[in-house]
Amino acid sequence: MTDLDKNVIPMAKRIIMALIATAALCVNAQTPMFNEMSYSAAQTDFNFSGGDKAAKSVTLRIYRSGDSAKPFKTVKMKKSGTAYKATVTGDLKGCFYTFDAGRGEFPGYFAKAVGVNGRRGAVVDLADTDPEGWAKDRRPTIAMKNVILYELHHRDFSIDATSGLEHKGKFLALTEAKAIKHLTDLGVNAVHVLPSFDYASVDETRLNVPQYNWGYDPQNYNVPEGGYSTNPYDPCVRIKEFKQMVQALHAAGIKVILDVVYNHTFNTDRSNFTLGGWDSAYRHRADGSYSNGSGCGNETASETPKFREYMIESLRYWVEEYHLDGFRVDLMGVHDIATMNEIRKALPEDVIIYGEGWSAGECAYPHEKLGMKAHIKQMPGIAAFSDDLRDALRGPFSDDHKGAFLAGLPGEEESIKAGIVGCISHPDVDYAKVNYSKEPWAQEPTQMISYVSCHDDMCLVDRLRSSIPNISDDELIRLDLLAQTAVFTSQGVPFLLSGEEMLRDKKGVHNSFESPDSINHLDWSRLETKPEVMNYYSRLIAMRKHHRAFRMGDAELVRENVRFLPTEDCMVAFVIKGTNVGDSWHDILVVLNANKEPRTVDVPLRSYTVVCRNLLIDEKGIDRVYGNKVVVPAQSALIMHD
Ligand code: CA
Repeated sequence: MTDLDKNVIPMAKRIIMALIATAALCVNAQTPMFNEMSYSAAQTDFNFSGGDKAAKSVTLRIYRSGDSAKPFKTVKMKKSGTAYKATVTGDLKGCFYTFDAGRGEFPGYFAKAVGVNGRRGAVVDLADTDPEGWAKDRRPTIAMKNVILYELHHRDFSIDATSGLEHKGKFLALTEAKAIKHLTDLGVNAVHVLPSFDYASVDETRLNVPQYNWGYDPQNYNVPEGGYSTNPYDPCVRIKEFKQMVQALHAAGIKVILDVVYNHTFNTDRSNFTLGGWDSAYRHRADGSYSNGSGCGNETASETPKFREYMIESLRYWVEEYHLDGFRVDLMGVHDIATMNEIRKALPEDVIIYGEGWSAGECAYPHEKLGMKAHIKQMPGIAAFSDDLRDALRGPFSDDHKGAFLAGLPGEEESIKAGIVGCISHPDVDYAKVNYSKEPWAQEPTQMISYVSCHDDMCLVDRLRSSIPNISDDELIRLDLLAQTAVFTSQGVPFLLSGEEMLRDKKGVHNSFESPDSINHLDWSRLETKPEVMNYYSRLIAMRKHHRAFRMGDAELVRENVRFLPTEDCMVAFVIKGTNVGDSWHDILVVLNANKEPRTVDVPLRSYTVVCRNLLIDEKGIDRVYGNKVVVPAQSALIMHD
């Protein structure tokens, strides 16, 4: 459009354009659709956004207790547009409420505080839930390329006596000096907590009885889980303790990332959405049945304007109220690409977003529009887990007994190379030979999460035992450390399952989502009995942190400065041109050898400082070697630089 054209836009059209611009602003404005309860000492306003169709009537009930007794006040809510409103005068702080749109009582779609087991909303003043100094709490500034993720379940982490932690299985465990020291000794800078919003499977009224669940059974998306608080009956306690956890981790320079599960609800017929009449929150098949892309009985409809808005408001709320640093999106492949991009835009730039780039069943939405790993290039600023690297190292998800690179089986080298470069296009990587991705799927290396194990299926120790018959203890540790060396020298964003540094096992259980503590707990005594594992991990992480060559964060730099060397089977060798990316090390040579015997690799004729060899890491150097060949000990990594 020329300047002349601009000048001749008729006035009417200008007014329409201005109106459109204003409307666009309204969508992006902070006026929430789901502000269901606003408290003041004089009155409390209730606002239920309604279901798909107008309800005959919506009733608000006010209670003195979160789980028992009859309501002391019942109010017929007034229809206002598509929403229902009621104002109750007097000070309701400490009271509880439910909505009833004709299908039974529920706490609303967006309760920010609830009673025990999340069945009633709670009237609270959120200011009462702020720990001392909360106003000064800030998200640590750590660029995505520098992030080191540590995935933990609250109960796994602290429940065992060997943890020495006081608040076993609670948010508060992560405020304790011993826990923080362990994380900082290890060197991780982002703790990813498994679902910690209110989930359904743990009965909060029986916390004296050991109960376990991962928490992928959402009940109330915008309230912390009561089972992880010291008192699930007092609605303020779980909120305050969650904030204390965030505050303590932030003070140690550690980000907090929440695993979010918007892709399905635990209940279908009795979920908050269904009880509110919001049936379109779910995707349905042509025959009207619930689509089940989550594998849990239903799947939500992120592409609908209201559910999209719900996800955005919910995530924004966790960032603003709880100061969260990022989100791990469960089954991101159930959500649509457009919504993921809207979420990216709605959240501050430094908030981390990564997800599982797959679904757990067929979705009632076109595959090409879903947030799958193969579509990550269409979602800038969002990352996905690399099952390519994971399975190339340890073997496929579908068969625990099947090994791969670590088991000394050839054929996975190209997939590991793809993982090393962050699954971007690279002249030395032939994607035709990569296990799952026949083309590079990441635009930038920071869009790939590099890992060998997570809470799902077997942890690394179990997998090695399962896939390598008669593996010796020595071999187990060698391969464990080799696997993590691949993960932590990848240009992707490294991710560690909590307890791997303690050589954790889950007694061979593949799906431990509701297994007892005896399976899931971390045994902290292994830090003493197997200190070499923690020692290696922490030194490996420190090396990554001290050397930007391992975390360039830019696809072009990776293409220019990472070169793979020819090797025999079951080996991957590469050179990183350190000085080109501002590293103090010149050329860095990394060799991963999964063979049961030492192997010799041809290298450029130089004098090298060896910093990692035969399970020892020391950045200052453990040896000096000169020549054009180097021997790499069996089942281990060699790293050296000139
Ligand atoms: Ca719960």
